[in-house]
Amino acid sequence: MTTKNTYSNADIAHIDRTAVWHGFTQMAHYEPLVIERGEGNWLFDIEGRRLLDGASSLWCNLHGHNHPTINAAIRDQLGKIAHVTSLGMIGRTAVELTGRLVDVTPEGLNHVFYSSDGSSSVEAALKMAFQYWQQRENPQPQKTKYVAMGAAYHGDTTGGVSLGGVEHFHSLFGPLLFDVLRGPCPDTYRLPENVTPETACDHYFETFRELVTGQHQQIAAVVMEPLVQGAAGMIMHPEGFLRRVRDLTQELDILLICDEVATGFGRTGKMFACQHEQVSPDLMCIAKGLTGGYLPMAATLASDAIWNAFLGDLDQNKQFFHGHTYSGNPMAAAAGLASLDVFEEEQVLENLPAKIDHLQRCLQPLASHRHVGSIRQRGLMVGIELVEEKASKQPFPAGQTRGARVCRYALDRGVWIRPLGDVIVLMPPLSIQADEIETLVEAVRYGISQEF
Ligand code: PLP
Repeated sequence: MTTKNTYSNADIAHIDRTAVWHGFTQMAHYEPLVIERGEGNWLFDIEGRRLLDGASSLWCNLHGHNHPTINAAIRDQLGKIAHVTSLGMIGRTAVELTGRLVDVTPEGLNHVFYSSDGSSSVEAALKMAFQYWQQRENPQPQKTKYVAMGAAYHGDTTGGVSLGGVEHFHSLFGPLLFDVLRGPCPDTYRLPENVTPETACDHYFETFRELVTGQHQQIAAVVMEPLVQGAAGMIMHPEGFLRRVRDLTQELDILLICDEVATGFGRTGKMFACQHEQVSPDLMCIAKGLTGGYLPMAATLASDAIWNAFLGDLDQNKQFFHGHTYSGNPMAAAAGLASLDVFEEEQVLENLPAKIDHLQRCLQPLASHRHVGSIRQRGLMVGIELVEEKASKQPFPAGQTRGARVCRYALDRGVWIRPLGDVIVLMPPLSIQADEIETLVEAVRYGISQEF
């Protein structure tokens, strides 16, 4: 039998290739990349290779790896207790985190339900919305439908996949899923015929309004990623769309669930994307950056109206029928608290505008390349879309996408990024420095120049 620490690097690579089953990865083509440690915005693999973490370890790392403040908080908590359930009790750090989250999130989200990842925070929101309509003071049990946007992505559990509209992630599972009402995909790059950037917001909003008006009495909630649809390929919404959706949901008595799993915690330049348009949803899902990207934790935040609908006498059975073993884990909560401390101590939000501008300036020269169809950026979230034909925005044919190849070349330049089809995604930690931004963009430029 093999004992621990006896594996050579070759063994590790072999086990990784043959036994570790990676998500969203074709294992027949997988080339092992095994990380040993991290330092700041850099990853170090088992061969000692240094790689800039251009994807924030899948959009979650905020302040860099091995951050002393977050490490110390986790260690300190470990010396007290590693886990406490949140069913009927709770660890102290989770309570403290709750207080801080209520302070930093949009006004009115005063209640926090913990879970373990983005997908489970969405599942909780869906079930909360459903149960809310069944048992609130003036129940409306017929409100059982959900609206999701075109090309939405809300995670990989069955509820999240049902909401999802990215064809190749979701169509395969069709028979497993529940029906949703599909709204428009408010894409500002590929506009419908006769729609201009100036009329895009009106157009998408009208399409949305027509969909919900008339059947709003059956609709429990609208679920949306505010401002940026990340997994669909960094699709950027027209300004004002979120605000108008919010106003209409209030007018028609539909709940709004904002999925800030990707956009939350500073990625768009503000703490939460909703805050760009002064929107306070009824429910908000957060995960990824919640612990600074250190430990798995997610949360669904709810308004007073929702919370109140779950209060009652014991025999009324109004409690939320949902809960996970590791919800509110104290070490994850300690990391979350420390991450919020780092936001303050290092003036993270205050330092973002200069980084966002620098990234934008560095990206500009790429725009003239004949195969770069669009460079879209919101804060430190970027999508660089490669197209076969620029004028017509014609994508490369299915099966001939180039994004993965460009990212492979970037790896040769010491930069780790992941594509979404032909969209090169850049989402560095908020702690990225000016010279690292230059390294990141230079690697993309190199990758594109090698590919074409
Ligand atoms: N919602 C959005 C908007 C996301 O971008 C993601 C993940 O990328 C999820 C939900 C799912 O989160 P997780 O992968 O943590 O389950």
